[in-house]
Amino acid sequence: MRKDKIFCVNCGKETENLIDGLCLDCYSRKGGFASIKKGRLKIEVCSTCGSIKYRGKWLKEDLEDAMKRLVIDNLLISKNISWKRPEVKFRRKGKTLYEVVVDIEGEIGGNRVKEEVYTEILVDKVSCPTCSRKAGKYYEAIIQLRGNERELDEREIKEMEGFLRRRMKEFEDSGRGVFIADRKKVKKGLDLYISDRKVAHSLIYQLKEEFGGEVKESPKLFGMKEGVRQYRMTYLLRLPRYRKGDVIIIDERLFYIRRYSSKGIKAVGLNDWKDYNFRHNEISSCKVLDKKDVIREAVVVNKRGRDVLILDPDSYKTKEILLPRDIELRETVKIVKYDEEIFVIPEG
Ligand SMILES: [Zn+2]
Ligand SMILES: [Zn+2]
Repeated sequence: MRKDKIFCVNCGKETENLIDGLCLDCYSRKGGFASIKKGRLKIEVCSTCGSIKYRGKWLKEDLEDAMKRLVIDNLLISKNISWKRPEVKFRRKGKTLYEVVVDIEGEIGGNRVKEEVYTEILVDKVSCPTCSRKAGKYYEAIIQLRGNERELDEREIKEMEGFLRRRMKEFEDSGRGVFIADRKKVKKGLDLYISDRKVAHSLIYQLKEEFGGEVKESPKLFGMKEGVRQYRMTYLLRLPRYRKGDVIIIDERLFYIRRYSSKGIKAVGLNDWKDYNFRHNEISSCKVLDKKDVIREAVVVNKRGRDVLILDPDSYKTKEILLPRDIELRETVKIVKYDEEIFVIPEG
């Protein structure tokens, strides 16, 4: 069977491939393969934090990268040609105006095609929703960090706040405009005002997971919005009464806490020097001794096997005690003085 001959309408050449009636040579010389949306392109940039609006989201990114993407999004190029990635160049024309040149290169049937497209981008300086809310100290939840029947110490507060800020940064980096609207050091701990209720909820349970304790949630009505009640949440995390380095009493026996985790504690029994693991809920009613009152440094005067003579640091009288095990002791040891008794805390 004979195939019909086809001819280019421009040069009359016989060919097998025609695009719009033209042979590949004529088609590639025709031009007009690329164009860009008419009029100036506009990009919204927050004048405070520099984030850039893209498809309804505010992203922290480089302005040139965002402008490039805007240009490419608005570029129309013919599908008949295989294009290389266009090259976009900017020239600042005014304070908020950029001139844009796009160099486009492609190929069709072995013929190189080159075009240039021009446009302008207007940078619109605005305030992003996060920055507007920040300016108004907007918050949806309060995270309260407290200790149970005790004040949190500086180190605990620093660790918990550091942890929270790192986790919050992760939300921020994923494009969620969350921030701490206010920070109030209160007598017994710390209050952090968080702009996003859902993020605050996630944070409080992450804190609990990391530091232990109990969470209490309480909503507070603060107004109506389009007929819907608006709540602010208070998320309270209460750390247990004890912490690492404390001495606690369980069933009239003394324990020194060596390690603290979200799940529980590792402690050494001061009577038997054995290691114990307790879950927080098992020992929630234990007695906690104030370490300032009970833990001391004391001098070892004499030692023979398990029998040691210790100088009471308060009365300067020597006291005989029997260690649970015979071990090497330094010249000074850590002791617990409680109820006229002295216990040596083993090292380790
Ligand atoms: Zn032709
Ligand atoms: Zn902003």
